[in-house]
Amino acid sequence: MELLVLGGGLMGLAIAHHLARSGRSVRVISRNRKEAAGFVAAGMLAPHAEGLSGDLLRLGQASLERIPTWVAQIETDSSLRCGYRPCGIVVPFAAAAARDAYPTAAWGEPLDRAGLERAIPGIGPQWQAGWLFSQDGQIDNRRQLMRALERACTHLGVAFEEGCSATGLVTGSAGQLQAVELLDAAGERRRLGCDQAVLACGAWSAQLLPQLPVVPIKGQMLSLQGPQQALQHVLFGPGTYLVPREDGLIVVGATSEPEAGFADGLTPFGQRQLQVGISGLLPAAAQWPPMERWWGYRPGTPDEGPLLGASPIPGLWLATGHYRNGVLLAAITADLLAGAIAAEPLEAEQQALLQAFDWRRFGWTEPFSGETPPPHRSL
Ligand SMILES: Cc1cc2nc3c(=O)[nH]c(=O)nc-3n(C[C@H](O)[C@H](O)[C@H](O)COP(=O)(O)OP(=O)(O)OC[C@H]3O[C@@H](n4cnc5c(N)ncnc54)[C@H](O)[C@@H]3O)c2cc1C
Repeated sequence: MELLVLGGGLMGLAIAHHLARSGRSVRVISRNRKEAAGFVAAGMLAPHAEGLSGDLLRLGQASLERIPTWVAQIETDSSLRCGYRPCGIVVPFAAAAARDAYPTAAWGEPLDRAGLERAIPGIGPQWQAGWLFSQDGQIDNRRQLMRALERACTHLGVAFEEGCSATGLVTGSAGQLQAVELLDAAGERRRLGCDQAVLACGAWSAQLLPQLPVVPIKGQMLSLQGPQQALQHVLFGPGTYLVPREDGLIVVGATSEPEAGFADGLTPFGQRQLQVGISGLLPAAAQWPPMERWWGYRPGTPDEGPLLGASPIPGLWLATGHYRNGVLLAAITADLLAGAIAAEPLEAEQQALLQAFDWRRFGWTEPFSGETPPPHRSL
């Protein structure tokens, strides 16, 4: 039977690609590809620069390790480049003491002011110390990765229903998944029978399964056209970061606005915040011409970690809640989900990661039954 992937954003595509490669018949139900955070993100691959810790750091490192092979596979299957650059990320600090207290200090190369100036010529004067995490990098998700994944999926026979919303989950008497209710682009409602589906609706996941503690965390972005080679590394400051693409475009992010919910649009306050961040990090960049401005929604969870693997509904799998690290985590997510769905024997590390990011860690034990989900449990 066809497996349904609900959501055609980054996770949906990455999982569909992995499953299709292993011979599964897959259909992606995609409400609106353009709204996906996969098209919004800065594309940093930054478990160390983000200062992750505990299970989330392990998950991020496991994904970072897989990324070169994952990207090569997508590029082969799509004949498109993904824009992967293992360029290293510099994290600046006002003082060495703050640098030394950073959670991922063990993985970085310490920089003093002179080292910072060598790594980032023109860096703002208030930065006196830093880390260079040379194993971190970036991928051009917005212009390259998402398209390459879409094309790889279609080459492998994945079916797409764009403009189609999953509006409900239908379960049988034993509580198992039996069908998904859809509202398609032509305005028609129908039920599609299935015994397995992956919920990958990003920030909108709780609209379909209100028990999920996933909320939108809005982020505004902009890009600048800098001189080519102006920056050799990503510069990851507090609140603002600069991500240099190969062609000199600098992607700048990002605001973090949990209170905005799904409010759309740019705000003067948010854009000003980015502008102030740019001037502080790299004063010359404040003069570079802005090219584009956009926004999107990170799928946030209470502990900032994703929900991966089985759900309360047998047959429904979860791949959501990746918050601000979904680009980094796409490779491991596809790997873990494909393994769990195929009921393959998993390696000890994979089992441990699935367990660490199981939905049960939030302590919600209410069983899900019937077609009408219980009311949303707010965070
Ligand atoms: C401003 C910003 C900056 C970021 N920067 C980075 C970064 O530098 N590095 C990094 O690793 N991560 C970053 N992220 C996070 C990353 O983009 C997300 O974690 C990741 O894209 C989540 O993928 P997803 O597939 O879960 O959701 P999305 O990519 O948002 O896709 C969800 C899709 O599901 C669809 N959908 C929703 N509901 C339904 C439904 N009922 N039926 C059918 N389809 C539905 C939506 O239309 C959407 O297309 C950033 C995010 C933002 C917003």
